[in-house]
Amino acid sequence: MPLLVMKFGGTSVADLDRIKNAAMKVKREVERGYDVIVIVSAMSGKTNELVGWVEATSPLFDAREYDAVVASGENVTAGLMALTLQEMDVPARSWQGWQVPINTTSQHSSARFVDIPRKNIDTKFAEGMKVAVVAGFQGVSPEGRITTLGRGGSDTTAVAFAAAFGAERCDIYTDVDGVYTTDPRITSKARKLDKIAFEEMLELASLGAKVLQTRSVELAMRYKVRLRVLSSFEDTDENSGTLVCDEDEIMESKVVNGVAYSREEAKITLVTVEDKPGISAAIFAPLAEAGVNVDMIVQNISEKDYDDHPGSVTDMTFSCPVNQVARARKVMEEARAAGTIAYDDLVVDTEVCKVSVVGIGMRSHAGVAARMFKSLADENINIKVISTSEIKISVLIDRKYMELAVQALHDAFELEQA
Ligand code: ADP
Ligand code: ASP
Ligand code: MG
Repeated sequence: MPLLVMKFGGTSVADLDRIKNAAMKVKREVERGYDVIVIVSAMSGKTNELVGWVEATSPLFDAREYDAVVASGENVTAGLMALTLQEMDVPARSWQGWQVPINTTSQHSSARFVDIPRKNIDTKFAEGMKVAVVAGFQGVSPEGRITTLGRGGSDTTAVAFAAAFGAERCDIYTDVDGVYTTDPRITSKARKLDKIAFEEMLELASLGAKVLQTRSVELAMRYKVRLRVLSSFEDTDENSGTLVCDEDEIMESKVVNGVAYSREEAKITLVTVEDKPGISAAIFAPLAEAGVNVDMIVQNISEKDYDDHPGSVTDMTFSCPVNQVARARKVMEEARAAGTIAYDDLVVDTEVCKVSVVGIGMRSHAGVAARMFKSLADENINIKVISTSEIKISVLIDRKYMELAVQALHDAFELEQA
């Protein structure tokens, strides 16, 4: 029997009516002759609420109990989806992560898949079950504890099942009808893409476009899963939405194909750090150990000796998510107290965001950076930090200019036109 994976995100299962709407889409595929694995998210807002409860109970929470609590949202929607399908005469059964089992590492709140044995679900399909509804976002560790995969992780659950079960396609149903040139909530000029290359989607996702979790794109790329993003609120067929695919399946491509943003960034500067071998390692190793996700890093080359410092000194600036600033500060202060690093001051700016342009065409075209910087300059937006890779350019700017910057860049690279 051909098999499809269909994933429904939070807004698509936000209440009983929406679950019914999603179930109808599943039933249609069953009528077309597919066995279906449905992956569900928690009802929208639920995971945030659960996270809030954990933090209110225990600010420095035990990650194992965090996972036990936040995974529960998906258990509810999985059971409700199976019941809804049964009410529609579709033979369906729900599965929590540990029942499959979805074996993961024991990195709580950011676990990774180890394997997904097919036996239990295949046995049920063989007995006539048509739909396996699996709770997204969760798994079980080697120690037998519940794990979660990081926010947005149900996308990754879906792709992992598509790979494990050799699904014909992995359809991600969400509240937009595909992947756009930028978040359609930021500009109405955003244009839906029929296809997007894995590499570009990977960059957009990791730079903040939350339409797909980064890890899900990585897995789809590695296991050659046909991955599609489409609307759960519209009538859809096999041509709907956006297909995430190999670069050579795409005929026309621009130099820049997307603009992404990440709103909650912070910039930390260590002022007058000694400029000597080993200083970067002394700063960033303890940050990494403490789980601070350092993103952009800038170190100035110091050409000058300062009177009050015997050797040459430099400033070291890095960015990290806003909610990790307290941890980063603590780690730096501890390192200073322990004498492994020395600096005069630690300056934190929590009012910044990151805006990025992405395109595989950048590999072979010069001038993208200049065009980007000119467009931001025309809006009088100051760039604080810049970082580049083969197919993206990112800048850190004041958060209050985020929407303006996204819109300006969308215009500058003429993304509205196909
Ligand atoms: P779900 O709950 O279905 O997983 P998410 O909220 O995680 O949905 O992801 C969908 C959202 O991603 C959209 O509502 C949209 O605001 C946002 N988004 C950001 N960038 C893009 C983009 N380039 N294309 C489409 N949607 C985007
Ligand atoms: N419910 C989880 C979250 O909100 C996982 C997901 O929806 O993908 O992050
Ligand atoms: Mg999501």
